[in-house]
Amino acid sequence: MTDTKITLPESEIPTHFYNIQPDMPTPLPPPLHPATREPINPDMLAPIFPMGVIEHEITQERMIEIPDEVRDIYRLYRPSPVFRARALEEALDTPARIYYKSEHVSPVGSHKLNTALMQAYLNKKEGVKRLSTETGAGQWGSALACACKLMGLECMVYMVKVSFNQKPYRRVMMKTYGADVVASPSNLTEAGRKALTEDPDCSGSLGLAISEAVEDAVKRDDTRYALGSVLNHVLLHQTIIGQEAIKQMEIAGEYPDIIIGCHGGGSNFGGLAFPFLRDKISGTRKNLRAIAVEPRSCASLTAGRREYDFGDVAGNTPLMMMHTLGHKFIPPPVHSGGLRYHGSAPLVSHLLAAGLVEAEAYPQGEVFASAVKFAQCEGTIPAPESAHAIHSVIVHALKAREAGEKKVILFNLSGHGHFDLAAYESYLAGSMDLQA
Ligand SMILES: *Cc1c(COP(=O)(O)O)cnc(C)c1O
Repeated sequence: MTDTKITLPESEIPTHFYNIQPDMPTPLPPPLHPATREPINPDMLAPIFPMGVIEHEITQERMIEIPDEVRDIYRLYRPSPVFRARALEEALDTPARIYYKSEHVSPVGSHKLNTALMQAYLNKKEGVKRLSTETGAGQWGSALACACKLMGLECMVYMVKVSFNQKPYRRVMMKTYGADVVASPSNLTEAGRKALTEDPDCSGSLGLAISEAVEDAVKRDDTRYALGSVLNHVLLHQTIIGQEAIKQMEIAGEYPDIIIGCHGGGSNFGGLAFPFLRDKISGTRKNLRAIAVEPRSCASLTAGRREYDFGDVAGNTPLMMMHTLGHKFIPPPVHSGGLRYHGSAPLVSHLLAAGLVEAEAYPQGEVFASAVKFAQCEGTIPAPESAHAIHSVIVHALKAREAGEKKVILFNLSGHGHFDLAAYESYLAGSMDLQA
């Protein structure tokens, strides 16, 4: 019997990030200026991001070196193990072999710390003293708060007011890491004051919190803004996940037939899948399938259109070519906060249009049934976001059973669900809208 848990020594932490752009069959359409609709000049992003981040956003180099300062902090939790989900296989009575990469083992409980640390480093290197950001459910805010403290930066988090009140523990976590956390809309910014004048009881939105965080960064010389998903540089940083997984699957003597990740903005899916997709694009693994899984209530890849759209609700960001439900789309309040985004990563959208990746969408009732099954077999309670991937894994493992095929399935367990127990409670109590 091979190991249940496939680990790598710290010396195997990747030395480079993998950039899929030079390997794509056609180049990514450029981002456009919101007013002129001309391709933007990278310098225009300088008040918001440091040059190091902008370079990672636009680079066409295939391998980007990871500085030792960042690799040293990755040692706290990387390489993350790959697990063989034997009990789940048995419960499903499937000939499929199921493996998962465990990003939930990071100190903040998700993959988001991978890019937060790299972004904090790039800012610090250019003399930035403070980072501002927004957070909805609080996962990104927690990751950036932790990364800033470990790198010696200050952190300012605008947390959507409804979450600020409903999710006190994520807020406490950010404060424990020394971050300043305010409910958005706040009276610290013009965008926030305007929203509060119009409606003193405004409960906030991710789009509004983005406007506040960007305004904070633009107004202060010592501050830049940081984003936790969607953009090329974020997906680039997450490719350490897939590079480790390639080595771990080799140790298991396997190569996946199907790779699965949940999809909100695209970063944990891209992070796991892109290093493997290199083999599909080169033709050595033509039949490899990579599947991005989204909530049916916010299905940008499966129900959206691929067109130029804004990243925020106000329409202030550059226009990006992506699968989108429209920047004014307000998703229903499903329990997977991290997947409630109207758009998708331009890189994932481009690969979907090229037929190199696939997408699926499921209602939350099915997703939570699979989450509970996974917890009862494997012990770990998954984040509701990650449970979308788990549900798709179960669907494909059952198909493999019907077909009598020994498929190898690898998925990304992007986070644990310890801060999402209210969602589990609603599912277990039967009060969840299962069709949403
Ligand atoms: C934020 C988050 C996601 C969704 O973001 P992606 O960029 O699509 O990965 C998924 N899972 C967890 C645990 C998250 O925190």
